[in-house]
Amino acid sequence: MKVIEMSGNITMVFNESREIYRYLHQHPELSFEEYQTRAFILNQLLKYGYEDIKINVGGGGIVARLTGGKPGPVTAFRADFDALAIQEETDLDFKSVNDGVMHACGHDAHTTILLMAAKQLIKYRQRIEGTIVFLFQHAEEVKPGGAVSIVKSGELDDVDQIFGLHLSGDIPYDGVINYCPGYALAASDSFTINIQGNGGHAATPHSTVDSTVVAAFLIQQLQTIVSRNKNPLDSGVLTVANFHAGNGANNVIADSATISGTVRTYNPELRALIKKRIFNMTEQVSQAHGAKVEIDYLDGYPPLYNHPEKMEEVADVFTDTFGAARIIESPPRMGGEDFAYYVEKIPGAFYFIRAGAFAENNYPHHHPKFQIDERSLLTGLKTILSLAEYYHQVKVGIFQ
Ligand SMILES: [Zn+2]
Ligand SMILES: [Zn+2]
Repeated sequence: MKVIEMSGNITMVFNESREIYRYLHQHPELSFEEYQTRAFILNQLLKYGYEDIKINVGGGGIVARLTGGKPGPVTAFRADFDALAIQEETDLDFKSVNDGVMHACGHDAHTTILLMAAKQLIKYRQRIEGTIVFLFQHAEEVKPGGAVSIVKSGELDDVDQIFGLHLSGDIPYDGVINYCPGYALAASDSFTINIQGNGGHAATPHSTVDSTVVAAFLIQQLQTIVSRNKNPLDSGVLTVANFHAGNGANNVIADSATISGTVRTYNPELRALIKKRIFNMTEQVSQAHGAKVEIDYLDGYPPLYNHPEKMEEVADVFTDTFGAARIIESPPRMGGEDFAYYVEKIPGAFYFIRAGAFAENNYPHHHPKFQIDERSLLTGLKTILSLAEYYHQVKVGIFQ
């Protein structure tokens, strides 16, 4: 593995990246409604000379293929492009012009990076061994997400490996890339349980079914799933975050009570076990007290599993390109990502680029003041070009 051969004008590439990034940042659109963004991406790809482009993949995805002059593997790179229902509060002069909508997760940057990679790589089409697939994905932020339907579309059936990146805007930019082999992001499921008792006078409990008492008992019991049913070596958490019963009167036993919360896991077997136990326990506890129950359980994205061999390969390529000091293994995180659906089917890996705009106290993702350092656009571009060089023997000479 050799370091990318570098020449050409990196300043020009940076300026162009920034222009695209700022345009996207200024024009954010909500998940599943990213019509202008999709049109913009398509237009850029056509401008760069792409011919093999599919739109509306799995609903709103865009897939552009670059088939080289020589045989080789098929590699997909994925970027998401949806924004969030947040009113932007930064003082950027390219802040959102769409009221109540903001790119507060960095998906605008992901898309910029992938567009710039597409622009550079098509210049070397003849030298490419195999096929590079540029996958622009709609709707990462809102379930069911875009990835699951893109996988189902069959458009990626011939892909041998897939890679994705996420900026970490909460950590200051320092040119460092974080990676995590195996489970890197959690499955995030949620539940709402409604306990229907039989309300009445607070002084005559014997003539009621007290939903508050049943719910309180249930909350305690649910904790034993994590403490008694879960293998202590497996990570997992169950939190009851809300409990509502009664209407404020001291002399009334509440007719019904509602509790809701979240379950976070990495291991799919543990994920299934916790879900099953929640159902069993809720039904049996309610039955024992004579209450009726309704459970609304929402399966979130699966846990994101980085195939260890691919992740190590990626880390090695990046170490050669950026130097060992900039490639740091990090522990798993409890956030979720629908990139998980791709790596359920295709070997691949997902990595993080530290990208916070400030030296310290960066705002977290999904915060109205979230901001990235634009230099991370070049870091991201360089990661994709270095993987393209490694897997497809194509050198793009823009970094020096
Ligand atoms: Zn997000
Ligand atoms: Zn995101």
